[in-house]
Amino acid sequence: MIYKKTEDEIELQRESSLLVGKTLAEVAKYIQPGVTTIKLDTIAEAFIRDHLAEPGFKGYGGFPGTLCISVNDQVVHGIPGKSVLKEGDIVSIDCGVLKNGFYGDSAYTFAVGEIAEDVKNLMKHTKAALYAGIEVAVDGMRTGDIGYAVQSYIEPLGYGIVRELVGHGVGKKLHEKPEVPNYGRRGSGVRLFSGMVIAIEPMINLGTRNISQEADGWTIRTADRLPSAHYEHTVAIRKNKADILSSFEWIEEVLSKMNG
Ligand code: MG
Ligand code: MG
Repeated sequence: MIYKKTEDEIELQRESSLLVGKTLAEVAKYIQPGVTTIKLDTIAEAFIRDHLAEPGFKGYGGFPGTLCISVNDQVVHGIPGKSVLKEGDIVSIDCGVLKNGFYGDSAYTFAVGEIAEDVKNLMKHTKAALYAGIEVAVDGMRTGDIGYAVQSYIEPLGYGIVRELVGHGVGKKLHEKPEVPNYGRRGSGVRLFSGMVIAIEPMINLGTRNISQEADGWTIRTADRLPSAHYEHTVAIRKNKADILSSFEWIEEVLSKMNG
């Protein structure tokens, strides 16, 4: 079952998705060498609850945190804890909120202080790949067109696309149908229609696409231990152009202020 949301439902989902963007912006203010990942999680949870919403990930499948915080070679699903961010790290932060019965889901990869040029490029291209996918996420296209757009952008650059984890429908549930892979063939997969809401979320590795799962049962890492980046938007499918419900605007405002 793939849900077609009404305009009213999409507006509720926009509210949830924008709150994710604001939460990530709040967290961004504290990303610097020396901060623990649990501190970032605590800030996010308080911020979400102050806005009369609930953390979408906390308790989901038993996940303990408000945020998934994945550092360097951790791809996704990192558990917040005592680990301390240091100069030169990158940190992928994925956040979900539940408000008025609807989920918003968005992720962003941040630099901790100065980072290596090749990692900076990985981040830049992963974000660009997300927007390449969004570009074709319109009524009448298929999930395979999104995957193709991401893959044809990323693979010529020599990066690895994680295949085991994919984007997804999102609404009253955090994960709904259809699956939205970050690789694929044009014209294949599930047909997109207006009123469908999906999360598009490329996970891109500096090295090979291979991953492994840590003993904590959650954290996904790159097999070659090279860094990985992750950007995600919740988008509503429309006739001619996708309607991006989440936003990086506040995050990037904070980052530009922090970087002077
Ligand atoms: Mg997410
Ligand atoms: Mg997601």
